[in-house]
Amino acid sequence: MKRRYLLALSVFALTAASGAALAQGYPDKLVKLQIPFAPGGTTDIIGRVMAEPLGRALGQSVIVENKAGGGVVGATETARALPDGYSLGMATVSTVAANPAINPKIPYNPLTDFTPIINIAATPNIIAVHPGFPARNYKEFVAELKKNPGKYAFASSGTGGIGHLQMELYKSLTGTFVTHIPYRGAGPALNDTVAGQVPMIFDNLPSALPFIQQKRLIPIVVAAPQRLAVLPDVPTFKELGLEPVNRMAFYGIVGPKGLPKEVVDKVSAGVKKSLEDPAVRKRIEDTGSLIVANTPEQFTAQIKAEYDVYKKVVETSRLKLD
Ligand code: GLU
Repeated sequence: MKRRYLLALSVFALTAASGAALAQGYPDKLVKLQIPFAPGGTTDIIGRVMAEPLGRALGQSVIVENKAGGGVVGATETARALPDGYSLGMATVSTVAANPAINPKIPYNPLTDFTPIINIAATPNIIAVHPGFPARNYKEFVAELKKNPGKYAFASSGTGGIGHLQMELYKSLTGTFVTHIPYRGAGPALNDTVAGQVPMIFDNLPSALPFIQQKRLIPIVVAAPQRLAVLPDVPTFKELGLEPVNRMAFYGIVGPKGLPKEVVDKVSAGVKKSLEDPAVRKRIEDTGSLIVANTPEQFTAQIKAEYDVYKKVVETSRLKLD
């Protein structure tokens, strides 16, 4: 028994030591950055903007890989990957806060199964409708929903995600009823909304904005600290007295738990360096996002805070997965 214990201890010490030694030369092969949503969503947009400059900063290619499962499938894969720094993943409010808050059966713990590295950007959220929907502004929108409970449906990036939970919160605060249609990411949800198959979407701004600018979607209300320069006529939830829905989304990079500090420091420094490039900053800011670029400790605290917020949302609105 004692020998087995000693053996386990020395294997552990060896693994830890070789982990640290390996981390010193990190990265010496390509790094995978996993996007836990379909192409075309905000996670995909931010991840793809970052991959190339981050690769340049690290001296190795960073390749993005989409795992379109509405967040959970991809986040589970990142949580279970080897903690060697070659399998990183994008973390969003959906994967580390909303989904775990509503679904106790989720296969990972958002607070203990990841190593948070850096939060890249915060983005506003938005409700937008297809031009065929009979509303051009918030007043007409809510009046139409109240006149026709259950007539309409909304698209979201996935069951239990930020779009789903925030819209449920909106419904409970306004006494409206709209049916939820989940997708495997905001990309396919947007495709169907723009095609008129679903009359509205609760999305993050970066993915919806190009369609709004092409007038293929009509913006109704945004979640942001104040009105957005790109959409000056669109009110915030806060202005409308719907403060709890006025929360932004975030997009950061995590690895599995137990990532060596050297890896965390190198990736964090690489992202920060990338964000010093005005062209990269502009690409992110042009989507309506705010650059965050915080420390691993700050990102860890932010994940915990956001998880607590969504736990409260689930409890007070008595939300359950259908
Ligand atoms: N709505 C998700 C989130 O903010 C991201 C959706 C996507 O990228 O497709 O957590």
